[in-house]
Amino acid sequence: MSEFNLILDHFTELGAYRADVKLGIGDDAALIELDEARQLVVAVDTLVAGRHFPLQTSAYDIGYKSLAVNLSDLAAMGADPSWMTLALTLPEADDEWLRGFARGLGDLAREYNVALVGGDTTRGPLTVTVQLMGTVPAGEALRRDGAEPGDHIFVSGRIGEAALGLACVQGRTSLPATSTRFFADALNRPRPRLELGRELRGWATSAIDVSDGLLADLSHILAASGVGARVDLAAVPVPGEIAELGADFSHLPLTAGDDYELLFTIHDTDVAEIEALARELKLPLTAIGIIEPVQGMRDVDGEPLHLPVLGYDHFNGRSL
Ligand code: ADP
Ligand code: MG
Repeated sequence: MSEFNLILDHFTELGAYRADVKLGIGDDAALIELDEARQLVVAVDTLVAGRHFPLQTSAYDIGYKSLAVNLSDLAAMGADPSWMTLALTLPEADDEWLRGFARGLGDLAREYNVALVGGDTTRGPLTVTVQLMGTVPAGEALRRDGAEPGDHIFVSGRIGEAALGLACVQGRTSLPATSTRFFADALNRPRPRLELGRELRGWATSAIDVSDGLLADLSHILAASGVGARVDLAAVPVPGEIAELGADFSHLPLTAGDDYELLFTIHDTDVAEIEALARELKLPLTAIGIIEPVQGMRDVDGEPLHLPVLGYDHFNGRSL
């Protein structure tokens, strides 16, 4: 059973029906009506040691990343983050580890004006859950379900840096030390694209953050919007090092997760403004395809995309 079927089968529409739930399960965060002007935005993500980060990851980086992944979900909604709770499961109470963890979490929280307002502490295998809340002007949130035929598909930054970082950390590459440090940083300290999300709200027709893999995450937008896409794989912005590393790494940017860039769609008429926005934010925003009415993903020649895997699924190995 895939992670997504599991959620669909057991948890959709669980509990009461409430009219103030404007968007429930199925997007990067939920939207709850607060008043006429504002919606509450809620996301939660868990990091499990050895699964979401290598066991040797520093306490600082674990603290940092546990918030960063949630900030990324709020960025994908176009939201402003405000409050978080922290559920921490620890094998032991190690003061030095906790100091490092708290510094990593605190540094990023201050940078984005997020307060820690509660949580839970238990003993067990190292697991970190951060729940993040924020707000968005009513009706302006970026969702997965608004992509329309003719829209252009854009992605921010470069895709595959975190996966290269993982390969570096695991000693699977022979890149020089400076590159190894750069890519390890991309893996451990992703930069959530909150400014971009804020700029896109009320404007991009759909958005998602790239956490499972570029094509897997695109497929979530396509499914939610009931459309298909033509994707120019050669246009996907990847680190130059990928080419040097050979065939084993060639699919990596398309299928590997953890980049936390934003993937979004824009009406044809707004494409020129994206170029201006990229300059303003000093962040590459690259067109990688077009939304089409017919479901499925095709290459530039219109041939169905055949890849061994699309991305990461926790209950299905690597076979989304
Ligand atoms: P993301 O990658 O953006 O964090 P996920 O792929 O983890 O999102 O989850 C997909 C959707 O399913 C989200 O809307 C999430 O809130 C929801 N979801 C995941 N697990 C559960 C669960 N156990 N109960 C209810 N909703 C869930
Ligand atoms: Mg997400």
